[in-house]
Amino acid sequence: MEEVYNFNAGPAVLPKAVMLKAQEEFVNYHGIGYGIMEESHRNANFEEVINSCEANIRKLMGISDDYEVLFLQGGGSTQFAMVPMNLLIPGKKVGYCDTGEWSHKAMKEAKILGGDVELVYDGSACKYTAIGDASAWKINPDYAYVYMCCNNTIYGTEYQNYPQTGDVPLVADMSSDMMSRPVDVSKFGIIFAGAQKNIGPAGVTLVIIRKDLASRCPANIPTMFRYSTHIDKKSLFNTPPTFGIYMMRLVTDWLIGLGGIPAIQKLNEEKAAKLYAAIDGSNGFFRGTTAVADRSKMNVCFRIGEGDDALEKKFVAEAKAAGMVGVKGHRAVGGLRASISTQCRWQALKG
Ligand SMILES: *Cc1c(COP(=O)(O)O)cnc(C)c1O
Repeated sequence: MEEVYNFNAGPAVLPKAVMLKAQEEFVNYHGIGYGIMEESHRNANFEEVINSCEANIRKLMGISDDYEVLFLQGGGSTQFAMVPMNLLIPGKKVGYCDTGEWSHKAMKEAKILGGDVELVYDGSACKYTAIGDASAWKINPDYAYVYMCCNNTIYGTEYQNYPQTGDVPLVADMSSDMMSRPVDVSKFGIIFAGAQKNIGPAGVTLVIIRKDLASRCPANIPTMFRYSTHIDKKSLFNTPPTFGIYMMRLVTDWLIGLGGIPAIQKLNEEKAAKLYAAIDGSNGFFRGTTAVADRSKMNVCFRIGEGDDALEKKFVAEAKAAGMVGVKGHRAVGGLRASISTQCRWQALKG
């Protein structure tokens, strides 16, 4: 099979240089005679990997010592539960934005855990085709925390601004736009992301947490679900996803080599602009499905006409024949979607 252009949302394309480097080191890592996947997580070889990965992430995102960088498991979906487990405060409400499927799943877990959820944005009326301006949200200063999903992978919307939450910790699901653009980490209480959309393979979840928030956790939360457990043991309380962390280290090395997050942001903006221009310039043949101001630079969602299922099916088949895979929309919304995540090979869209 020839190499194809991969538009899957996640797991998604990784930089080719990273894939080749992993291949080169796969069976004999740095001459030790076996692979890093086969190394003990307590050994100095792996310690170097996890420490360098953390140092890379701190450098790329400008993360201060007030924050911990954790490598956990269970995906973004486990964070939907860990956040309320650790941050709910009895008698206080929490604010969530409703921007579609991923917010619904997060709110569901908060409610299971007794959270009194109030909406700071409700996108249900417009069927999540718009998400509004987060900087205009009214934040009750008595909330235990405010929760947002920054990029809505399924609907193709992405916040261009973040809310001002004052002393209320802001929790952000950045699963599908992590490290795609500069972010002022000091404005957030927790940032989390399953790696597989933008920064590595499935199996490792990156969590950036302001240290003081870990002490909120009530006594009846099990050990593995407490952020403090993983902070105290530097993500080595139990066996971490070692190969995923190794891959994330390679991806972050690659990002630094490229010029860091401002450099990848520039590429992301260029490739998204090119794709949206093609959709908008098609005289209505293709139609973007979201409000123009809220368009995602990671997941470009579109339809043929008003949603011509037969033609869209044909489009998916012809795209595949032309060497472009993964352009079918998410099953929850249908239509078409090109995910052009951070690591998508830019050359693929340049032509
Ligand atoms: C994919 C995704 C998730 C779920 O991640 P898992 O790692 O599969 O649990 C959560 N939030 C967003 C925005 C996503 O795109």
